[in-house]
Amino acid sequence: MDKDPEVLRIAFQGLCKHNLMALRRPEKWGGPAVSELVFRRYQEQIARVSGALAFLQTQHQSAGSMLANSENEAIMEEYLPKMGNGEKLVGIGFSQLRRPGPPLMRAEETDGGYLLNGKVPWVTGYSFYPEYLIGAQLPDGRAVFAIVPLPTTELAGMKVSEPMGLAAMESAQTVSIDYENFFVPHEKVAFVKPAGWIQNNDMINIALQGSFAMGCAMAGLDIVNTNAQKKNVDFLIKAHAALQEELNRCRAWAEELRPQVNEETTNERLALRAWQIELMARCAQAAVVSSSGAANSSNHPAQRVFRESMVFTVSAQTSAIMEASIKRLISE
Ligand SMILES: Cc1cc2nc3c(=O)[nH]c(=O)nc-3n(C[C@H](O)[C@H](O)[C@H](O)COP(=O)(O)OP(=O)(O)OC[C@H]3O[C@@H](n4cnc5c(N)ncnc54)[C@H](O)[C@@H]3O)c2cc1C
Repeated sequence: MDKDPEVLRIAFQGLCKHNLMALRRPEKWGGPAVSELVFRRYQEQIARVSGALAFLQTQHQSAGSMLANSENEAIMEEYLPKMGNGEKLVGIGFSQLRRPGPPLMRAEETDGGYLLNGKVPWVTGYSFYPEYLIGAQLPDGRAVFAIVPLPTTELAGMKVSEPMGLAAMESAQTVSIDYENFFVPHEKVAFVKPAGWIQNNDMINIALQGSFAMGCAMAGLDIVNTNAQKKNVDFLIKAHAALQEELNRCRAWAEELRPQVNEETTNERLALRAWQIELMARCAQAAVVSSSGAANSSNHPAQRVFRESMVFTVSAQTSAIMEASIKRLISE
């Protein structure tokens, strides 16, 4: 799944077949409206099995959750009921809104809609998602979110890059897209968010995104455990137990902080995210160390988990998360 988009596609279609693609969808639109806790556990378990699948499916789950809060009833009716089983598939591309300075992706109001200009640096799911939710900044700092095509053939006003060569999760096919006077009609606009929305949203999500790191850490520990059983050496059994105990503590703290989203807990949640990232990296490295030279084989799970830990280290990164992660690395 990590290497071949067609193999990944089979698993992806499996999630669609089992109606697992819109887990946070409100009952009004077909449910199952699972709790935050269940959803995070699900994200962990998918990341434990395959980083590529976890990363790919979460783009659509995010789009679904965001569309459920749309201001456009017609879009909700058109999309939401069909998002659980993949009849409608939607990626996302709004991380550019995080970048400081002149906006990378701009929207300008025009007759009947908006004109889009600029660049979306990351959109995952090319060839999986026929459409995606783009975020583009208006001159007054607000951001327009609209559903736009993610075509595999040429379309006027947009230029999609080749899928990027990536160290991990390449099969999920991430592209960048350049826009020149691309028109998006009002009917495709899901909502307009106030200036600073993404910074506020990132603050809420600081710890939530850590579920992928936890799942990836579990994948590393699964490998350490297999090696410990196979080699039957005491220090590996002890290492597995120690890391597992730390993982349990880390997850317990995440659960404790989950319901509290306020300014006072920001520093705690940043420290949690940094811990999740660092612990994941240690578990992935323990998988490599315990697998010895075989970990270098391009088909060995230890090196895949090691590479996946790299993506989960930076996905949805903000300056504050970067700072907290780096500080943890230099602390004794
Ligand atoms: C493989 C891959 C696939 C991805 N797929 C998607 C996708 O499908 N959809 C999507 O929306 N995103 C996607 N992302 C984006 C991902 O969420 C970003 O990695 C994340 O937002 C960090 O942004 P960046 O990597 O572009 O780094 P940067 O732009 O460098 O941003 C990192 C942080 O640093 C801050 N920063 C940057 N420059 C400065 C500066 N000069 N001064 C102060 N602060 C600064 C930014 O505000 C940001 O908070 C993907 C990323 C990867 C690696």
